[in-house]
Order: sequence, then structure tokens, then C-alpha cells
Amino acid sequence: MTFLFASDLDQTLIYSKRSMGKQAVESDLREVERYEGNPQSFMTATGQRMLHELAEELCFLPVTTRTQSQYERVTGIYKGDAAPKFAVISNGAVILEDGEPIKEWSDHIRKQCVSKKTIVEELMPKIDQHFSEEWVLRVREADGWFVYLIIDREKFPSEKLAFYTKTFREIGWSMSLQGRKLYFMPESITKAGAMEYVKERIGADYVVAAGDSLLDLDLLESADLGLLAAHGEAVRSRIPVSAHIETTEKRGIEAGEEILFRVQQEILQHK
Ligand SMILES: [Mg+2]
Repeated sequence: MTFLFASDLDQTLIYSKRSMGKQAVESDLREVERYEGNPQSFMTATGQRMLHELAEELCFLPVTTRTQSQYERVTGIYKGDAAPKFAVISNGAVILEDGEPIKEWSDHIRKQCVSKKTIVEELMPKIDQHFSEEWVLRVREADGWFVYLIIDREKFPSEKLAFYTKTFREIGWSMSLQGRKLYFMPESITKAGAMEYVKERIGADYVVAAGDSLLDLDLLESADLGLLAAHGEAVRSRIPVSAHIETTEKRGIEAGEEILFRVQQEILQHK
């Protein structure tokens, strides 16, 4: 049986100091990402060991909204130089195979975005129109696929989020608020679509998916078992989910560990 574990990274498996929660014990942390010389993301020692062990028994597929350069910094999710064969990055717009983007996949996604007019050039004027406020610190474009704003959470008017979400959905963009980042994602770019492509390529029979944000929900819905981190945006939004999706009991970096325990159990059951 070929088992696929398709998992989001940030705030699902790996955590920054800001997102890990106060219960995290310093001596139990393992650095998994370094940025500009500083440790940036962590797992617990147990979590990291479990993930490294799991990778020998199943196909571990990182599924992240990170761009290629952001993803390539996360070297602690695998042992030594045994990077996963496939990785879904840029929220599904790009699939890496042995570290190289699969061109036919991204060409296919690009065509869909162009035909639906959900391209960055069309979005920018709308962003300018709605978001000139003081809480927008920076506007970032992710390799030409989507846009995110770095915002000041203290000043951000949360009560307007539902209005923004509706406004942008009407022109084909999904929104997601994760920490200090407010994402605008074309509807054609999904984690589920890219996961299905990899599932087909490796001939997987069973998929466990894990995530925390609204951008992860389609991935979890299309899996056989979905694991949702209790602290995340998806749980907070109270969107109804299917019965095969479970929410963790723990929060923060410990939820990451709980997810990996659950995957381990699931493998044992299906062996
Ligand atoms: Mg996440």
C-alpha cells in the first residue's frame, strides 16, 4: 500500500517563536529553518524524529504556500540530504520534482489563471483601491502567482475581513489571514489540485493531509484523513468540514507533534 502524507508546513509541522505557543520548552526545540543567519522555524525534538522516521515508510509531500526560495530554507524537515522527491509550493502553482519545477504543471495553472483573469496585474489596482490604510506595511508578490500583504495586526480592522473576503471572491480571489500575512490567492491555485497530481504520479492509495489555514481546507477535504491544527485560521473561521477531518486537541508546536503521532497510528492500522 502506498501511503501519502501531504502536509502544510508553517503552523502545522513547523513553528516560529511567535506561533509555537508559550508551552514550548527551549531545550526541546530543534531548528528546521535558518533565515539571514538566524534560526527561524522549529519542531520539537520528538516531532522532528517522528517526521524523519515516517519519511522512510511513506511518501512525505510538503504542501506549502511558501515560494521556492522560502521552501528551500526549510532543511530540517528531512534527514541529511534526503529531501522529499516531490514538494508542492506556491500553494499548488508549482510542483518540485527532485528540486526542479514541473513545467507542464505550472503552464497548466498559468493558463487557468489567465483565462479567469486572476493574474497579479489584474489584482494590483483592486488592492490599491481597498488597501491604502496605515495597517498595510508591505505588498508582496509571490513569483507572479499571488499576492500577500504584510500587515500590522494591532491596527488591522478584523471586522472588515468578511467584507474584503466577499469582495475579492467575486473577482476570483480567495483570502486568508495567517499571522501578519494577508493572502490573495487565485481560485485556480489550490493545494488539493497539486496533491492529486502527485498522488496520481506515485500511485498512492491512501492520503493523510494536515493543515491549519483556510488555504489548507481543500487539501484536507480531498484526503482520506484530514488533520486540522486546533489553533489555526480554519478552526477559528468555523467553516463546516467533512467527517473525515479531525481537529487536534493540542495547540501550537505540540499540535505538530500530535499530527505526526496520528499519522504514525494511521500507518500501523493500514499496514
Ligand atoms: Mg500553515
